[in-house]
Amino acid sequence: MSDEKHPNLTTADGAPIGRQHALTAGPRGPVLLQDVALLEQMQHFNRERIPERVVHAKGSGAYGTFTVTGDITRWTKADIFSEVGKQTACFLRFSTVAGERGAADAERDVRGFAVKFYTNEGNWDLVGNNTPVFFVRDPYKFQNFIHTQKREPRSNLRSDDMQWDFWSMCPESLHQVTILFSDRGIPATYRHMNGYGSHTYSFINREGERVWCKFHFKTNQGIRCLSDEQAGAIIARDRESHQRDLFTAIERGEYPSWTLKVQIMTQEQADEWSARTGWNPFDLTKVWPHGDFPLIEVGVLELNRNPENYFAEVEQAAFKPSAMVPGIGPSPDKMLQARLMSYADTHLHRLGVNHHQIPVNRPRCPVMHYMRDGQGATAEGYGGSPNYWPNSLDGTPQPNEEYSDPAWDLGRAIVDRYDSTVDHDDYTQAKNLFRLLDEDHRDRLATRIAGVLSNARQEVQMRQLCHFFRCDEEYGSRVAQKMGLDEGAIRQHAHA
Ligand code: NDP
Repeated sequence: MSDEKHPNLTTADGAPIGRQHALTAGPRGPVLLQDVALLEQMQHFNRERIPERVVHAKGSGAYGTFTVTGDITRWTKADIFSEVGKQTACFLRFSTVAGERGAADAERDVRGFAVKFYTNEGNWDLVGNNTPVFFVRDPYKFQNFIHTQKREPRSNLRSDDMQWDFWSMCPESLHQVTILFSDRGIPATYRHMNGYGSHTYSFINREGERVWCKFHFKTNQGIRCLSDEQAGAIIARDRESHQRDLFTAIERGEYPSWTLKVQIMTQEQADEWSARTGWNPFDLTKVWPHGDFPLIEVGVLELNRNPENYFAEVEQAAFKPSAMVPGIGPSPDKMLQARLMSYADTHLHRLGVNHHQIPVNRPRCPVMHYMRDGQGATAEGYGGSPNYWPNSLDGTPQPNEEYSDPAWDLGRAIVDRYDSTVDHDDYTQAKNLFRLLDEDHRDRLATRIAGVLSNARQEVQMRQLCHFFRCDEEYGSRVAQKMGLDEGAIRQHAHA
């Protein structure tokens, strides 16, 4: 007898199952091929895993609410920011970058900070990190950089030599490397760290005017970090420390929140600032100093609901910078331009062409287009409606001129493969950060770097130490001393 407390066990097609024992010829077997419910269970089990993400494989996620507290409608017509007090549902996935799905949470690594806002005009994904910059600025280097963070092909081990070889060949990484080996390199929990959109994006207002912007999520829990010793002790007993912290905090009703702030730069300011500093506002290895471009408060993001099923909602969550909405657009940032394609592409591979129909990814507003079919199509929302355009039928979706973006003046751009390593200042912003750190913090930074750089080949050590000296004499000298090396010779070489 089935009742509410004990509903019928069924096959995946919904047929009630009488007895859950293998169907055999005689009590001792063999098992018959016609036990289709057993076959179904085994076949489903064999397919329980999907390819893990190549990067950001280990993650934690939660649903929340974004509430507007500051008016930025003079810069953007994005519906999500249309009035103070407006609330929009969102989903946030945190992650580590390099480790596989079974890796420990409390490792020294950059953290992913990816938000999906379910706005009235489509999903807006802001796919950022807990750092405002990144290691490289040319997309050709991205996949290569990730290889250095993963396993060495022959030994299947992670390799300090491989990592420092790459970093020492790419001095644009120095700013991000300094953040990574600073105290903020191991956040205590996902709740106690900031998030950044990192790239420069554009805002477009109702008048069709475009400005450049950057996004900052400041934690309201305060910054908290772990030392290597603390992290080691945590990992020894708990590989899921960040997942556990986030999940249990939300279960307790202790909802973490972040204040969203933006920096705004007009094209005139971009021209003036570039000329003054020599920095490119679209270079992902650079921040916009707060003194030049102050933070403007926009709203508060609160996480207040755990997913019901980790696999369905967190593992299948698909974030892509190309999910933009009217009023928010890209910038010329070369890394962003590449990610616009790359992230959407990986979801096609990992989740399939209809990943938008998975509930966690599904927009909460009407979706109407002429794309059809493919693996996993549910046809919800379009049923038997026409699958071609233009058409002369009523009730079919049509483009609306109101939503077209203003033209983008690129001047007399010359198409070429520009070398992004020449004439770039890779040192000043890393130096500015180093100068922010107090005496003890500088010592810890140098100790950590020396600990891992010592494992690299001597040639790699020398090349990287020269970068520290070029960035800041004290930075170079501290790391060289910790490594027990003759700093005078390296200093001379660095400035030769
Ligand atoms: P400010 O003094 O105005 O800001 C310093 C920033 O550094 C603050 O946002 C602070 O974050 C952050 N910070 C402090 N310690 C660390 C750390 N160990 N790792 C990463 N960030 C840290 O200076 P400027 O805007 O002139 O920038 C100076 C340097 O600060 C930059 O070169 C950059 O390295 C760093 N920075 C700048 C940011 C920006 O957008 N301008 C953003 C983040 C870092 P918090 O307020 O949360 O404590």
